[in-house]
Amino acid sequence: MNDFIAGTDISRQLTLLEKSQWWQPEELQDYQNKRLRSLIHHAYTNVPYYHDLFRSLGLSPSDIATRDDLVKLPVLTKEDVRKNPGKFVARNIPQKSLIHQTTSGSSGKVFEYFIDRDTLSISRATTLRGWEFAGYRVGDKIATLAGSSLLPENVPLYTKIRFKFSHNLPLSSYNLNSERLNGYLQQIIEFNPRYIRGYPSSIAILAEHAIEHGIDAINPEGVMTTAETLSKTQRETISAAFQCDVFDQFGCFDGGANACECDQHSGYHISVERSVHEFLDDSGSPVAPGENGHIILTDLWNYAMPFIRYDAGDMGVPADRICPCGRGLPLLERITGRTAEQVVLPDGKRLPGLLLTDVFEDGDVVTAIQDYQIVQEKVDEFVVNIVQSDRYSPDINNEIQKFFWGHLGRDVEIRFNFVDEIPRTDSNKRRIVICKVKN
Ligand SMILES: [Zn+2]
Repeated sequence: MNDFIAGTDISRQLTLLEKSQWWQPEELQDYQNKRLRSLIHHAYTNVPYYHDLFRSLGLSPSDIATRDDLVKLPVLTKEDVRKNPGKFVARNIPQKSLIHQTTSGSSGKVFEYFIDRDTLSISRATTLRGWEFAGYRVGDKIATLAGSSLLPENVPLYTKIRFKFSHNLPLSSYNLNSERLNGYLQQIIEFNPRYIRGYPSSIAILAEHAIEHGIDAINPEGVMTTAETLSKTQRETISAAFQCDVFDQFGCFDGGANACECDQHSGYHISVERSVHEFLDDSGSPVAPGENGHIILTDLWNYAMPFIRYDAGDMGVPADRICPCGRGLPLLERITGRTAEQVVLPDGKRLPGLLLTDVFEDGDVVTAIQDYQIVQEKVDEFVVNIVQSDRYSPDINNEIQKFFWGHLGRDVEIRFNFVDEIPRTDSNKRRIVICKVKN
């Protein structure tokens, strides 16, 4: 059904991934290198940016035979792509096969690029395999509690239809007041999903509410969390309320990062069939296992607009052990780059900061703003730091203010601060939402 609507090839890719997860690490490495060689050849032949880059470095495609050879090429930043996006589009891909994407990713910076059908299929298949690590079977019912990044608002029609046919109960993370939480718990009991999925902070609020009110009738097979950092306390609360395991998942669409926990909870299995994931220190050298590094991605499937050694702004810690589950997929210890803190509402309730970023992903705001950061200075005072693009106009401020007031209340003051660059933290993390209000 999904394939039919979207014109994709998800089930075939999923069958491959279900098999390859059990391959030995060497077999997976061979597969990855083979795909890498073919991508490099394609990029050199058909993508102007890479053709020029290889020539200026005196390299030929055969110089990049394995992932270890990637160090011969520079890391690609979003700025590099923004400067000349047209040069990254493959000349041999028909215009009508290009699928336009915009993302603010987990780093907060809005970014436009193209993918093709194959990328869409493998991306969806990789996500589904991650769910299968938690025991999910295609067709299982899922309740999703999240903001618009995971819910079917402002998405293509086929995504809406997919939600309808994929047995998904969408629940918005906005305004999680007591009344709404009661309603959600009731809806979930009636829907009886096999899984609950969404933002960890929102699911934890729902879990706390269930515990406080003695509601123990929700017993899914598992809870799947994504898009924010899952804290130990959140994991424990959710697990206690719904009497099941919590499976944390990490994905980044541009670049194809994907890493998910299996039932051993011994780290996150990296989808190496999807993308090469390198972990580099600030000087560009690989970090040792157990050390924090920038996650640098080479998407092995996107032939429409190849990104080789792409820095999507995420950070993580690689591990060098094998998971007891027997999967050959390598492990990521933890993800460290995503920091959107929760903000505090005037009534003392907490709201996932990630929800406030939704406005930056929509309509005119996407293209008007290059980068942003939201800082809660006081309970009733927010500062939005903005790097303008050339398509910025003052109307944008009103749009953002209206959106913020809708979620924070009209008594909150929203100030705008225009900057040339959003500062990073010492560890080079990108912090999208910062809350300076202490309990
Ligand atoms: Zn495992």
